[in-house]
Amino acid sequence: MIQRTPARIEAHLSDHEHRSWQQLLSESVTSPEELLRRLELPEELWLTAARQGHRLFPVRVPEPFLARMEKGNPADPLLRQVLPLAEETARAPGFVSDPLEESGAIATTGLIRKYRSRALLMVTGQCAINCRYCFRRHFPYDEQRLNPDDRQRVIETLGASPEINEVIFSGGDPLAVNDRLLAQWATAIAGIPHIRRLRLHTRLPVVIPQRVCNELLKWLSTTPLQVIIVLHVNHPAEIDTATRRALGYLRAAGATLLNQSVILRGVNDRASVLEELSETLFEAGVLPYYLHAFDPVAGAHHYNVPDEEARNLVRELLSRLPGFLVPKLVREEPGKESKTPINLFP
Ligand SMILES: *Cc1c(COP(=O)(O)O)cnc(C)c1O
Ligand code: SF4
Repeated sequence: MIQRTPARIEAHLSDHEHRSWQQLLSESVTSPEELLRRLELPEELWLTAARQGHRLFPVRVPEPFLARMEKGNPADPLLRQVLPLAEETARAPGFVSDPLEESGAIATTGLIRKYRSRALLMVTGQCAINCRYCFRRHFPYDEQRLNPDDRQRVIETLGASPEINEVIFSGGDPLAVNDRLLAQWATAIAGIPHIRRLRLHTRLPVVIPQRVCNELLKWLSTTPLQVIIVLHVNHPAEIDTATRRALGYLRAAGATLLNQSVILRGVNDRASVLEELSETLFEAGVLPYYLHAFDPVAGAHHYNVPDEEARNLVRELLSRLPGFLVPKLVREEPGKESKTPINLFP
């Protein structure tokens, strides 16, 4: 099923493409100094702020993602997602540490239930990349580490909730853990008769395409559950040849691929960028799903794009793209029964 890489492409693979995903994950850039050095940006301008931000939420950038950034360009849209800026240490009214009030929706340790038919399992708190705008940057992940008893309770809770037909592997990034553990989860969940679908919310196939390895493809293609993978790509430059290939393998394993983005100032706040993102995703076999309005998380207010502007951008997309390439503009509001669609024509 899995095709060998044609020799023509093989010749162009950079060195990091031959390393295993575990190796790439552990060798990520995790210091502001290293990040600036690799991108050839002057320390005088960026280092003090980057160090301050790094203390609040550590820098973490995997090699294959870094390789897609433009050297010497502080406005690079990929770099902007991972480089801490001075704005992070400023306070802004209304920007809080748990904007989605998730701590109130915990069904049992590791399981978040906000919506009737879906439950979200926090497989791990670890991520392959630390995105500065992440609404979970202040989440107390350590309290959510699952021991075997917790895992048993998650399965029991799901088994006792016949309205739940879909389990979402989330985190952190669920693909940051090994496939043996994921396959165990998938098997246990597939044994619950009312669960039909398994969804993964992950950035890993994009930031480290090598994560789409044979072990992953094996359990994905053999689970009786229908599999949906929701990627998180914000800018078309995140998708390179290796990513496209990895996404092709996931599709060949039977997964439906969707994408959610967050609208971010300085990254994707232009109609032309969002248009190109939808086109690039579709070429890679991925359909746009959600475009999230920015969650008011403390330390990230400089990414905020006001609703009025977001609405105009999506209206512009409607005029440029077929309907199936226009993501739904939504916001997550605490206590609601679903994501809240933002009305484009108020
Ligand atoms: C976003 C989210 C979901 C998924 O919602 P969909 O609209 O089905 O994509 C499920 N559970 C939680 C807790 C969520 O935050
Ligand atoms: S949870 Fe997602 S958005 Fe947040 S830091 Fe991890 S990969 Fe980035």
